[in-house]
Amino acid sequence: MAVKVAVIGAGISGISAGNVLQKTRGIELTIFEATDRIGGRIWTRYENKNNFTSKLELGANWVHGVKDNPIHTIAVRNNLYEKLNMKLENEKVHFPCRDTIALREDGGVIPKELYVFVKQNYASALQKANSVFHDNELRDQYEHTSVDDFIRCEMEPVIKASSSPKDAAHLLDSLLTMETSISGCDSMNQVSVSQFGSYKELAGRQPPIAKGFQQVALLLARDIPSEAIKLNTPVTKIITKDSTVTIETADGTQHDFNAIIVTSPLAFLKRNHIKMFHPPLPLWKHRSIGRLDMGTVDKIYLEFAHLDFIPKNVYNIFIAKQQLSHNWTDKIYSFGLSDEIFLVWVTGEAALEMERIPDEEEVIAGCMGVLRKALHNKDIPSPVSMVRTSWGSQRFFCGSYTFIPTGASVNDIESLAEPILGADTKPLLMFAGEATHPEFYSSVHGAFLTGQREAQRIINAHNLNEI
Ligand SMILES: Cc1cc2nc3c(=O)[nH]c(=O)nc-3n(C[C@H](O)[C@H](O)[C@H](O)COP(=O)(O)OP(=O)(O)OC[C@H]3O[C@@H](n4cnc5c(N)ncnc54)[C@H](O)[C@@H]3O)c2cc1C
Repeated sequence: MAVKVAVIGAGISGISAGNVLQKTRGIELTIFEATDRIGGRIWTRYENKNNFTSKLELGANWVHGVKDNPIHTIAVRNNLYEKLNMKLENEKVHFPCRDTIALREDGGVIPKELYVFVKQNYASALQKANSVFHDNELRDQYEHTSVDDFIRCEMEPVIKASSSPKDAAHLLDSLLTMETSISGCDSMNQVSVSQFGSYKELAGRQPPIAKGFQQVALLLARDIPSEAIKLNTPVTKIITKDSTVTIETADGTQHDFNAIIVTSPLAFLKRNHIKMFHPPLPLWKHRSIGRLDMGTVDKIYLEFAHLDFIPKNVYNIFIAKQQLSHNWTDKIYSFGLSDEIFLVWVTGEAALEMERIPDEEEVIAGCMGVLRKALHNKDIPSPVSMVRTSWGSQRFFCGSYTFIPTGASVNDIESLAEPILGADTKPLLMFAGEATHPEFYSSVHGAFLTGQREAQRIINAHNLNEI
């Protein structure tokens, strides 16, 4: 008899699990996806203008390090980088500051030397923060310290020694805000320095996928029979009993399975697991879900008719400012140019505040206020179009990606990944998704690998073979 397997979610982890399972003899696969699309937090929006197709990445944008990255392998094999012409392997990750201009929030250029001085010392402090995790003694010593406290402490003498301590302090504030968009939190005060280095950086560049990141998910989904993927089908209840698991979908229908893989994002689980799982999840898993966290990172794309207002050869306007939190726009720290379109990042509480603004013109005005003030130019025209994301208020996501707060540890990621066994000791309820990878949480490649991991767990437990 076939082993009936359900996967909840058609993001990259669900699709990678499905891709492995459909190649296995003796599996009957169903993927339930709440939304109307495949990809989850990978979401490319294509636009056709004057016979030219442009794309906007609303979710994942870059392959985070190409060395040993399975997503890079898929992209190369399938020509997804097509338009890119660069040497990718074995190059050091670098964040160029060559074409960045640093400005004070109320106008005025910060000297390049000062910007480079602060940025380089900040990079060293960050590296030091990363190394805490790998040293048992330091890890214990800094158990309750946040990344924010650690970095500020490291940077104190640097700021004092700089040519302008006030500018240097504001640069540091903005760099730490930038870090919140990388870590996926409201403030680096939330992130544990003792666990910060548990995320393993892959070497090499961080290329975008020229054809659109979504193509990675669609390519993997191509091998799965389309009737096995049920879009617009939210799962509302998961009932486990002995060696079977029953899933109830939003329309009230129930389906029985021998095993299920849950890939719902951590923030969705935090909000919904108590009403979703029957019986409730064991206390150890419940506690780990409670301790880990996932914040909101949003993007605002601003497209201008022309870019005459920015200095030549500048692709990134970095704004040094004291990070207050009176208004969501206080959190804007840069305007980065990508394919003639400005990208602005907003994180945490500020992102949620921005998402709540119903009027798009108000969001545009907020961004333009910051840009005009920093460039000291009231005449910068408004953008011709704006696209913003709202990951925090999307019901089946409730945020952007996972971080490890103070009080939590990588053990919590491991216990989230731990399966719940049925009466026959075979895995019954499994968990995949970026939040369940102990080294690559928050990334696409991490999510992809966890889908493969859980598919393999089922295959091993049931002694199944490839078709
Ligand atoms: C703004 C942003 C930028 C990012 N940038 C990058 C980047 O540059 N590089 C990178 O590597 N990573 C990046 N990431 C992170 C990356 O996108 C994610 O880590 C990864 O895509 C997560 O995949 P997943 O399968 O774990 O989860 P998801 O993609 O969230 O998939 C889970 C799926 O489950 C569905 N679901 C949830 N609950 C239910 C339910 N009850 N019933 C049915 N379906 C349900 C959801 O609709 C969703 O489709 C970014 C993320 C965001 C938001």
